[in-house]
Amino acid sequence: MEQLELGRTGIRVSKLCFGSLTVGPCQADLSPEDGGRVIAAALDLGVTHVDTAQIYGTYPHIRRALALCARPDDVVISSKTYAYTRRMALDAVDEARRETGRDVIDIFLLHEQESEHTVRGHMEALETLYELKARGVLRAVGLSTHRVAGVSAAIRYGLDAVHPLLNKFGVGIGDGTAEDMLREVRRAAESGVGVFAMKPLGGGNLLAHAAECLAFARAMPWSFALGMRSEEEVRANVAFVETGRFPDGAEEKIRSVRRRLIVEEHCVGCGSCERVCGQHAIRVVDGRARVDAGACITCGYCGRACPETCLKIV
Ligand code: SF4
Ligand code: SF4
Repeated sequence: MEQLELGRTGIRVSKLCFGSLTVGPCQADLSPEDGGRVIAAALDLGVTHVDTAQIYGTYPHIRRALALCARPDDVVISSKTYAYTRRMALDAVDEARRETGRDVIDIFLLHEQESEHTVRGHMEALETLYELKARGVLRAVGLSTHRVAGVSAAIRYGLDAVHPLLNKFGVGIGDGTAEDMLREVRRAAESGVGVFAMKPLGGGNLLAHAAECLAFARAMPWSFALGMRSEEEVRANVAFVETGRFPDGAEEKIRSVRRRLIVEEHCVGCGSCERVCGQHAIRVVDGRARVDAGACITCGYCGRACPETCLKIV
């Protein structure tokens, strides 16, 4: 598989990155053994970058995949944290190292940054991550974002890497169109920030347009992370990235999948889901959570925040 330089970091990543949110408790909830096998299938087929986050709960799955993989040292791992203090950042990196079994985490990002104002509020954590990079514990530091203004912030602060939401139809971009995001991402890349995009299928909302959307992602000069839940999905997506076509029958199968967030009857209307959703896609109305399906990118973050475990991606 094609390998790309990640800006000025000196890190090389495969064109397709395995987005591990899908195998973890926020989504398919596979065991570390089963999820590890799915990730390992991608590594066997030439994927060399696995993306995760502190809240994904997939460090054990990645650890298992590395144990199954022939060349674990060639695998680049990126993770993210909502930390805003020094202590929280230190703990987040320690947790990633301990649970993946890796002494060095390649890329560590501030999670879901909205603008330079948000980054300013996380400055203590950002400075701590750079300090860990100087000590050789991390290789690159950056941010992930669903907003054009988040990419502007990565440029403004000269970060090593940015992980922006980018798809052909702009689904999930909080403050602009796909064209706006593309323009800013291009500016980031030109200024030396390493780019790896996310959600080429809008978190599952664009599965009906999978070929068109993956062709768009494939044509970008950057790599992109895609969530996968089964070895069959891995084979189909790797084939598309390498040849521009899905294997026979795969596209019909992918197009027929519908993912949505459901709220079970026992919702108590506490509002925790509403507070964690960066997309503003869930709101408590008349004592019960209601999902705006047009805005929801089925990330599953709200499910982790629900004390009643009544949110499910189906
Ligand atoms: S967090 Fe759970 S219980 Fe609370 S409002 Fe949301 S869905 Fe309902
Ligand atoms: S409602 Fe939940 S699944 Fe949908 S975008 Fe918000 S946090 Fe993600």
